Amino acid sequence: MALADEFDGFLIDLDGVVWVGREPVHGSIEALRELMEGGKEVVFVTNNPERHPATYAERLRKAGLDAQPQRVVTAGTVAARLAVEAAGEGSIFVIGAAALKEMVENARAVPLPRTMRERNRALVLEGDAGREADVVLVSGHRGFDYEELLIATLALQRDAALLATSRDPTLPMPGGAWPGTGAVLAAVETASGRTATICGKPERHLFEAALEALGCRSAANEKAREQRSVRVAMVGDRISSDIVGGQRAGLATVLVLSGATSREEAGRSAVRPGHVVDDLAALLR
Ligand SMILES: [Mg+2]
Repeated sequence: MALADEFDGFLIDLDGVVWVGREPVHGSIEALRELMEGGKEVVFVTNNPERHPATYAERLRKAGLDAQPQRVVTAGTVAARLAVEAAGEGSIFVIGAAALKEMVENARAVPLPRTMRERNRALVLEGDAGREADVVLVSGHRGFDYEELLIATLALQRDAALLATSRDPTLPMPGGAWPGTGAVLAAVETASGRTATICGKPERHLFEAALEALGCRSAANEKAREQRSVRVAMVGDRISSDIVGGQRAGLATVLVLSGATSREEAGRSAVRPGHVVDDLAALLR
């Protein structure tokens, strides 16, 4: 019996699992197609907030998978919603890619309170205006610089709330890991002396959104999941976010060795994943 047969649904991480940079992990697309055509429920989850869910869905569709945007949950969309909630009628300074700023703007698609409409206040503040922000949202991006660090630090000294998409230190890329959100967040936390609320994995917010997308959040399904009649596995390449988060959410966990974690690192870790496999394709062997 293949490992995949033990589960009805999967939360599948993207970077280091489905692809590394732009390169698909060998056999991953075929494995996903087999899982989905075999009737397994699949939701893709990523701490990478650089792109919209629709962009990831498009990339998966181009690779030959039937992936809908509603089936892609990113730390970006979850963080955008939480940042807008935290800001209330206030404003947000975003350290992150243009797509993340758009997600924050879109998260405010609910009607604005009248006072805010009247004042015509911007939600996402740019440049020096960010010093006045009520919320600072941090995410790694290639344009990160001292100016952004300075503006965030000054806003945080004025007691802005601090949110971040993750603490992932790196992003697996062909040719070596790149600095991730955790590296940028360390600079912001060091300068401000503050500790961020994390919106992505391993915290519960992203898992709640992902399980909802999987159809496991109705009362009946939740009960069924507790009784293990709906069996869901989190499949990811990073122990500190995917495996720890999956375990906290009460899910089975599968660590794949195609991304951030080597077999030696997995062996040394105090956290024990439920299963350790080479890659996604190994789920079906
Ligand atoms: Mg990953």
